[in-house]
Amino acid sequence: MYHALPLLRLITVTAGIIAGMVALLPPGVHLFLAWDHANKQLDAELRICTVALHKFISNNPATWSSQAIRLRAVLEDIHAPNTAIQVLHGVDGSGEEVGQIKEPLPWPRLTRTEWLHDYGEPVGQVAVTLSLHPLLIPLFWTLCCSLLMGLVVFFPVRHLTLRTVQRATAALQSAKEQAEAASRSKSDFLATMSHEIRTPMNVVLGMSEVLLETALDAEQRHLVQTMHRSGKALMGVINDVLDFSRIESGRFAASALPFSPRHVVTETAHLLRMAAEEKGLLLAEEMMPGVPDTILGDDGMMRQVLINLLGNAIKFTQHGRVVVHLSPHPREPDTLLVRVVDTGIGIAPAHAQHIFEHFTQADSGITRRYGGTGLGLAISQRLVALMGGQIGVESQPGQGSTFFFTLPARSVPVVAEPLPVLPQTARRDAQAVRILIAEDSPDTQVLLQAYFRRTPHHLVIVSDGREAVDRVRTEPFDLLLTDIEMPNMDGYAATRAIRQWEREEGRQPLLIVALSAHAGLDKKGESLEAGCDDHITKPIRKQALLDVVQGVAETIGRRQWAGQQTVSPGDSA
Ligand code: ADP
Repeated sequence: MYHALPLLRLITVTAGIIAGMVALLPPGVHLFLAWDHANKQLDAELRICTVALHKFISNNPATWSSQAIRLRAVLEDIHAPNTAIQVLHGVDGSGEEVGQIKEPLPWPRLTRTEWLHDYGEPVGQVAVTLSLHPLLIPLFWTLCCSLLMGLVVFFPVRHLTLRTVQRATAALQSAKEQAEAASRSKSDFLATMSHEIRTPMNVVLGMSEVLLETALDAEQRHLVQTMHRSGKALMGVINDVLDFSRIESGRFAASALPFSPRHVVTETAHLLRMAAEEKGLLLAEEMMPGVPDTILGDDGMMRQVLINLLGNAIKFTQHGRVVVHLSPHPREPDTLLVRVVDTGIGIAPAHAQHIFEHFTQADSGITRRYGGTGLGLAISQRLVALMGGQIGVESQPGQGSTFFFTLPARSVPVVAEPLPVLPQTARRDAQAVRILIAEDSPDTQVLLQAYFRRTPHHLVIVSDGREAVDRVRTEPFDLLLTDIEMPNMDGYAATRAIRQWEREEGRQPLLIVALSAHAGLDKKGESLEAGCDDHITKPIRKQALLDVVQGVAETIGRRQWAGQQTVSPGDSA
């Protein structure tokens, strides 16, 4: 069908040309013939006039110009309708008028002049003018008729073309819908696969982490570490492929929520510091003055781009340091500039222009040496574009690289929520958290139990959303960790049911954190929309989970302490 488009264009243009020819050719031919006829007529008139006048002049040499009355009589004899004749005495047309036969001739008209001679000497001029008026009416009618004919040709051809175009468009539309449906089912397939692959991988990674905390001899430790590293690498590849295909399917949009860009930089650097230190690299952050505290944007996307850039910088640097700079853009107002500078292997200029293309690496030796899919930068580029910024690189082989990206930064004023200062005692008291876990996979249940084994927290584990809702209604909990996809009732539905129950009963909201096996970029928004307070993407790192629970413990401690503070004045009164 795509081949039909140039053909359609050709048909339309040809129809236009044919209609134009039908409409304009007859009047054109008519005009040409009439013009030719008028010129010939004028030449004939002029010839007759000149012959008659020369005869008059040779009969009256020297005195001819003083015999105006006789001259007029001669001219009147040869006068033709639609023609005017003027005779001048003297050369250059500047002499006095001898005689003329001239009706007022309307425009358009055509004039010819000729010299008059007496014995070879120029003695005057004759001008013959012809009115073209009689030409106009037939010309007008020819034009009308041909226009009519042109329209008669044009409209059916146009109609035919339009119908063909409409059919072609409908065919294209249905092809587009089919392609979109195929892309949707590809995304759905990927989402399902993602869930099915991540759930067991989550258990493999988590269990190996737990295993590493037990007493192992050196060889066992090495084997488990290798297994853990390979699992993480596989997870990275899966995440890249899924993220890329999801971005390509166009179902991604950047959100515009307030967040702190400094916080994202610090947090990401913190996340990757251990990986850098394991290689003996220094990982530092540098914040320039003038960066707004809070901007509107998508913190998840910014975090993911930074993780990609910092991850690459650490991966491709053997000695030295990696520094992430956050500053206002020096030239563009309301724009932030993030730069990741490393002292690594660098990139040759010929390769630098291609590394943002997908599945592209600077050279094939790199895959063998460092691994990677060549998708990280392609994903980063698309995410930065979705956020309205630009990404680029400056690099010299052997000298290190500077990757940078810009972010539009509309700052928003934030009203900080005043939180009471937490005294040390409250911190100590608030350590045991009552946690309800809703998770259908028995392996993940075992893993989560293993994570919380040496902590003071109380765990209750249920295997679907309905059970979770029932338990929340009947027992006090501080935190609900809920898987999203579960039989009977999924995590979102359970969260909605709990939120509704809390509103109806006037209860304090329970902290709910969604655990998702889906790649996290757009799921976080969905979780927050369903009423969750936070979202953790599997594989769940033990430390990340314990950090969340620690945060909950501190919030509870703060609430308890604030409660005691407000109650005590009343007590003493
Ligand atoms: P990969 O998953 O292979 O790292 P990326 O898209 O993230 O894919 O990177 C593409 C290529 O760009 C890498 O294979 C590497 O050749 C080059 N590259 C990216 N970052 C750096 C860096 N900091 N230093 C040197 N080369 C880099």
